[in-house]
Amino acid sequence: MLSRSNLVTRFKRPLIQGRQLSSWHDALDKIHSHNEDINAFVAVEDKQLLEQLGKDTATRQAQGTSLGPLDGAPIGIKDNFCTSRLETTCGSRVLEGFTSPYEATVVKHLNKAGAIIMGKTNMDEFGMGAANIFSHYGAVINPHDKDASSPLGKRRVAGGSSGGSAAAVAAGMCVAALGSDTGGSVRLPASYCGVVGYKPSYGRCSRYGLVSYANSLDTVGILAKDVGYASRVYDAISMYDEKDPTCMPDKFRRRVDEQDQALAGRWATDDLSGLVVGVPQEYYVDPISQTVVDIWRNGIQHLRKRGATIVPISLPHTRFALPAYFTIALGEASSNLARFDGVEYGRRSKAQADTEDNFLYADTRAEGFGSEVKRRIMLGTHILTAGTYEKNFLPAQKARRLIQQDFDNVFSLANPLHSHSQGATSGVHVILVPSATSEPPRIEDCVPESDQQEQDGIEKHNSAVETYVNDVLTIPASLAGLPAVSVPVGKGQDGFPVGLQLLGQYGYDRFILRMADILSRAEQNQ
Ligand code: GLN
Repeated sequence: MLSRSNLVTRFKRPLIQGRQLSSWHDALDKIHSHNEDINAFVAVEDKQLLEQLGKDTATRQAQGTSLGPLDGAPIGIKDNFCTSRLETTCGSRVLEGFTSPYEATVVKHLNKAGAIIMGKTNMDEFGMGAANIFSHYGAVINPHDKDASSPLGKRRVAGGSSGGSAAAVAAGMCVAALGSDTGGSVRLPASYCGVVGYKPSYGRCSRYGLVSYANSLDTVGILAKDVGYASRVYDAISMYDEKDPTCMPDKFRRRVDEQDQALAGRWATDDLSGLVVGVPQEYYVDPISQTVVDIWRNGIQHLRKRGATIVPISLPHTRFALPAYFTIALGEASSNLARFDGVEYGRRSKAQADTEDNFLYADTRAEGFGSEVKRRIMLGTHILTAGTYEKNFLPAQKARRLIQQDFDNVFSLANPLHSHSQGATSGVHVILVPSATSEPPRIEDCVPESDQQEQDGIEKHNSAVETYVNDVLTIPASLAGLPAVSVPVGKGQDGFPVGLQLLGQYGYDRFILRMADILSRAEQNQ
């Protein structure tokens, strides 16, 4: 196992190469040569086990008993999915050294499909962040940043919170990786790292064994080198699981799948006649960069050239998405993270062990959690406090419902979750928006001012709240539980990747992947 390291050092060889990744062997080579630099993996599987798994795949292939399209594929797992061999730390000191007694359902599915789990990937602590700088194991560096001589603060981020998964895929350390997406955590890093980032509809994939950040929003996500691999992973992990009460039941799933497949089949070729694509004016947000706007236009052009009709739409409650999200997510997080008290869960502080004072909880939590998680637990606790609950939490739930209704009002497809939903006449099939407001920022632009002492040598300017604004483009789909996929579509002025996002009606997951496949060819065709 590679050691977990706080140090982010320098590249030895160029990372992004044209060569196709073929096996776990190539993936392991990439991990050995580049992980020290980009810090994508926090734990790597034992080489002997990988060798054995590789041999098993080869034997199956020789005997014609392959387990399917993922048999032998090297895959990474974000460190908030429980695995019974490797530690599961959620990027936190609180869980350092902990190994789960069981495996997350989606990890089991991948094993059954013959995937070779390469290791666990770095992440913002408990999924809280957008730049992957809040990890106990150090920041993840964007693999497209070749400027190895610049100081750490000047390096480009990989995005978060699934930054390790996105960077690992971009650097060829695996062909796909599991991430989790609560408010954008697969789509934002996918955009920054130039890979596909897919968040299925809420309830499509089991959350059993995914350590909760905010349950009503947490979704298993997929980072992949292309739409093909994202689809293969989705096919392997999207199944009913009785252990997750929010997982889509089979009967409902069959009904939704039928409609989903019919729609995907309608545009099985690249002729998009009859497809209506919505472009919401509200996503033309204040901090959006010109480079992103240009790439958004390219994406629109690409779909129009293939026969799609592009229509402007309005999602008027989008402006409430950010405050509603942070109210709901932090409220749920403060309650979820209460279990890490050093008694039943988490590493226990030794500070008071020899004294009569009983500050075990306080010491444990003060020592264990990082600055961002502490900030969010405190805000979340305030949000759930009697008195502020009515003023904050309830209005946020109302705003969430209005945001969901906005989407139902523009989609031509009925929302299968809402029996009253009919689908809008002259509505849209899909929505096209940017995934991020800019190319990946530098680390120093993401570190909140108050954390300066903790992030040695990095000077910075932003308040914690300013850094939350990055999520403005990804959060609405999370609040509505919709399928959303970020596809790399171009490079910005600084030469870093920029992604566009496709949003679909609830349950239309294969359709949205089909659209992503078409959009993924946008860049080279312009
Ligand atoms: N950046 C958002 C947050 O910090 C989303 C994170 C996520 O999706 N896990 O909450």
